[in-house]
Amino acid sequence: MKAAVLGAGVSGLTIARKLHDANADVTVYETDAKAGGLAKSRVTDGYIYDPHGGHIFNSKDKSVTDWVFSILPKEHWQYNIRNAKIFYKGKYISYPFELSLCELPIDDAVDCAYDFINAQCGDEPDNFADWLVWNFGRSIAEAYMLPYNRKIWAYPLEEMGTTWMRGKMPLPKKKDIIRSLALKDPTEREMPHSVFYYPIEGGIQTMVDAIAKPLTIRLSESVKSIESLGERWHVNGEMYDIVVSTIPLKILPEVMRLPEQVVSAINGLKYNSLTTFLTDCPPTNISWLYIPSARWRAHRMGYQSALTPKAAPNGGGSGAFEIIGAGEKADDTLIKQALPKELCVGHIIDTQFSEYAYVIHDKYHAKNVSVTRGYFDGSSGFYSIGRWGAWKYNNMDLCMAEAFDTAARILAHEGMV
Ligand SMILES: Cc1cc2nc3c(=O)[nH]c(=O)nc-3n(C[C@H](O)[C@H](O)[C@H](O)COP(=O)(O)OP(=O)(O)OC[C@H]3O[C@@H](n4cnc5c(N)ncnc54)[C@H](O)[C@@H]3O)c2cc1C
Repeated sequence: MKAAVLGAGVSGLTIARKLHDANADVTVYETDAKAGGLAKSRVTDGYIYDPHGGHIFNSKDKSVTDWVFSILPKEHWQYNIRNAKIFYKGKYISYPFELSLCELPIDDAVDCAYDFINAQCGDEPDNFADWLVWNFGRSIAEAYMLPYNRKIWAYPLEEMGTTWMRGKMPLPKKKDIIRSLALKDPTEREMPHSVFYYPIEGGIQTMVDAIAKPLTIRLSESVKSIESLGERWHVNGEMYDIVVSTIPLKILPEVMRLPEQVVSAINGLKYNSLTTFLTDCPPTNISWLYIPSARWRAHRMGYQSALTPKAAPNGGGSGAFEIIGAGEKADDTLIKQALPKELCVGHIIDTQFSEYAYVIHDKYHAKNVSVTRGYFDGSSGFYSIGRWGAWKYNNMDLCMAEAFDTAARILAHEGMV
């Protein structure tokens, strides 16, 4: 079986590796000069930088962790317990905010706890802005949830749905909040990313390169044409039995013929873009810092040097701050607009723009995705998976799990299991 995989991000590399390991003849097409997609790393002036945002690995799915550690064994990973903080009124509050009310100024803590205990009355709203107030109460929503989410989405929260964030956001119960106040203990143990792994050397690229090692990847080769030829497919003029696309759905109408209703659904899909800025800073054990206030332009500072001791030269510190959108001038005046001075950031060392950063789950998302999923369901030998192929807010582990399932379907269909 001859397969073309479009895109060498985590999704493309995972499915290519699964098919390759089952003896399929696989070619990966990648527009960039390097594999990894959003999960890349580079070294600038001795600093390790994940230019599309710091990428930590963890999963609740044992088949995913077993597979990753079989490819890059555990001794190559730094095990970390998350120490995330929120910058609020000049103080570092533990994450999650709603379990750390004991760290707030006392009047704020009382308001937040009182409103939360009285929250969740009446019908559950179906738009994200109202849902945040409904679920957490007005004080927590206004202090943290609303300003932070306005910054990271840069999209009206009133026009976003609510189902996407389950499993992504901590959703503690009222009793958890009372317990955390009584014990003065913000610890939660069941949330996503409460512990995680990061490669000791080379950034997340080390994991990506280990997956990619045996694969044939045509780097710097964009997919420019996809044609259906009966039961087979042409990609850039070359014949394949099946195609697995992980490139953004938005690109497909430019390279293949599609029915009008599919193009219209694709045109309706929403996303945002991101610029990150690598900086030097004092060493810290904070994993990452959320900055909800509209006073500063960055929404998050990810401390690369807290992920692995090898991230910065001479035992120094480093972090990358993130601003939604493009067109920022990467000079040091930006640091003053982007970050509180308390972070004591030095200089910008490197910067990167990512066109495709976050899928926006607006209220038409489910309808548009059901059209694209229905069309690219694999029945014609063409599959579309991954963060941008399925258009889902999936982290690396969920992309891997989806790639496992799709590979199993393909291999079963081709009689290769
Ligand atoms: C800021 C940020 C932080 C994140 N942090 C984490 C984290 O800590 N942990 C985690 O698990 N996940 C994290 N994620 C999510 C993670 O990045 C994604 O789940 C994962 O990398 C998506 O992989 P993918 O292969 O589906 O997509 P991509 O990585 O986007 O891969 C798509 C590939 O297609 C290529 N391509 C595009 N057009 C063409 C073309 N015409 N021809 C050929 N190739 C093409 C692209 O160059 C790219 O390599 C983060 C995401 C962001 C934005």
